[in-house]
Amino acid sequence: MGHVDHGKTSLLDTIRKTNVVEGEAGGITQHIGAYQVETNGRKITFIDTPGHAAFTQMRARGAQITDIVVLVVAADDGVMPQTIEAISHARAAGAPIVVAVNKIDMANANPLRVKQELLEYELVLEEFGGDVQHAEISATKGTNIDELVEQLGLQAEILELKTRREGAALGTVIEAQLDKGRGPLATVLVREGTLKKGDRVVVGTSFGRVRAMFDENGAPLAEALPSTPVQIVGLSNVPEAGDELVAVQSEREAKALVSQRADDGRKATAGEEVEEVSADSLFAALGESDEKELRLLIKADVRGTAEAVQDATLKLSTERVKVNVMHTLVGAISESDVMLASASDAVVLGFHVRPEPAARKLAENERVEIRIFELIHQLLDDVTAMMSGLLPPKVEEKISGTAEVRQLFVIPRVGTVAGCAVTDGSMLRSNLVRLIRDGVQVYSGKVASLRHVKDDVREIAAPRECGLRIENFNDVKVGDVLESYSLEETPDSI
Ligand code: GDP
Repeated sequence: MGHVDHGKTSLLDTIRKTNVVEGEAGGITQHIGAYQVETNGRKITFIDTPGHAAFTQMRARGAQITDIVVLVVAADDGVMPQTIEAISHARAAGAPIVVAVNKIDMANANPLRVKQELLEYELVLEEFGGDVQHAEISATKGTNIDELVEQLGLQAEILELKTRREGAALGTVIEAQLDKGRGPLATVLVREGTLKKGDRVVVGTSFGRVRAMFDENGAPLAEALPSTPVQIVGLSNVPEAGDELVAVQSEREAKALVSQRADDGRKATAGEEVEEVSADSLFAALGESDEKELRLLIKADVRGTAEAVQDATLKLSTERVKVNVMHTLVGAISESDVMLASASDAVVLGFHVRPEPAARKLAENERVEIRIFELIHQLLDDVTAMMSGLLPPKVEEKISGTAEVRQLFVIPRVGTVAGCAVTDGSMLRSNLVRLIRDGVQVYSGKVASLRHVKDDVREIAAPRECGLRIENFNDVKVGDVLESYSLEETPDSI
């Protein structure tokens, strides 16, 4: 990942040309969105997702396929807006970063400046006492590419990346298209297990059989081990990037899985069971723990303002509700921001910026909340309101009156009506009623009917008499006390 024109494509091309695993006899090299290189007996799979939007989109759909992010920064240009965004995306994914300081062959290259600028974003390179690996390279000249690849291997060792080789395959679709001759083609990264030619698979909501499998050089494969990108032929439909592939035992299992997934999908479109990123859902999601958290993604017109907004919102944190600013960025609210917010369950706050039309649409689909402000106090008021929205409302009981049961009327097929004298306040038809016997609450529930003489009434005040029937409860006794009360919700203080 990295800023446009900093050399991502050139770097991938160079790594590929110099290190590609030899394919079997003369396959045609084709773009399948991912490829594997081998150095010193180690294989590394590069996922060629142009830009970080695709990366985050996959992650927002639940597919975490990246172990390490290579951050490309051109030494003649330094840290740029998309560099910062890329750092945020990688952080949100919890993927460690290895920095490739590129274009060191340029006359005006200044690698030291890049490394210092990165410090500002808490990317501390090893030579400055941190733990971030880096290499200073030239993608076009091929300088120090080996060193970069070496750093990646090292990082993988530090992370102790491991996966399962045995058993049924599990993978993620990286790219897919419809081929005129061969039908649906999907590039899948096998994440666990071994995918074999002939396997029955479910991908997204379609199933099929791996009729043929190819590597990035177009060479046919009989089986693919974990971390291998493969192109498969034999699906019934074209899947989407981020769809999950599962190898299954039988057609029956496949069909069951497909119908279950289709069901989930329908519910998702109907708006059920979808994780919605809003103040309300954040409450539901965090409902289990005692401390609530409001997650924010802040976008503002200039860096200084963005930081001021961040500081001011962070200060609103209380013991009960914590404000967590996931990302603070500069510029209009883009689709990439919305995906980032969706992936981190955050609400987007825009200060002196507007969402791009495409971002607004995506936010609707992804159910990400975007709030725009021109004045800081309005923004802070709104954040405070969202924070209180995270807390369950305080429920207070309000007693409107009490009555004493003096007489019982049993009405066949209807129930027992308590003939009462209202001793205090009023009994309300719309209130709840509690039955107290010898000082102990025996029952509470709704009022089925409230009458004065023969008339239905909404309210009856002391010192008059009334007939009251409790819904679904007939065990009333003379001498019982009835309390008329309501429950009132008030927002709790944060
Ligand atoms: P991307 O947008 O990040 O994929 O960047 P590209 O790989 O398309 O590179 C943008 C431009 O920078 C192209 O003209 C490349 O030839 C040039 N470029 C990339 N890497 C280097 C490098 O190491 N040295 C020099 N001098 N130019 C480079």
